[in-house]
Amino acid sequence: MSVALDPCPFCACEARIERIGDRRQSTIYRCDNCGCSLETGEEWGHGKGWNERLTRITDEMVERAAKALEKRIKQDTYAWTDEQFETWWNDDSRFVEKINVWGWFKGTQKEKCLHEARITLEAALS
Ligand SMILES: [Zn+2]
Repeated sequence: MSVALDPCPFCACEARIERIGDRRQSTIYRCDNCGCSLETGEEWGHGKGWNERLTRITDEMVERAAKALEKRIKQDTYAWTDEQFETWWNDDSRFVEKINVWGWFKGTQKEKCLHEARITLEAALS
């Protein structure tokens, strides 16, 4: 018997149980989108451990979520390598320096990405 899993706290995508634990082995949860995982000692009621993990949203979680989402888009659209994505995420002046106004938000494109990721995470965890 297992309970429904909450979305991943890092990217708000669906998580799954990779291994159902028992008395001899641990339970492992995984999110295939961002690659995060959690190992617990649950032997029954699988899913509770994942749902009860720390859910305070940190800047690191927001950045990780924003990157996972953007990376998927860029790689699907332009077939970028991981290296090309990292360069763009960290150094592209139009992305990290240029200030834009979107009506409800003023800042760089990167700040907007992070802001949207935070909203997504907060919605997923509330
Ligand atoms: Zn995830």
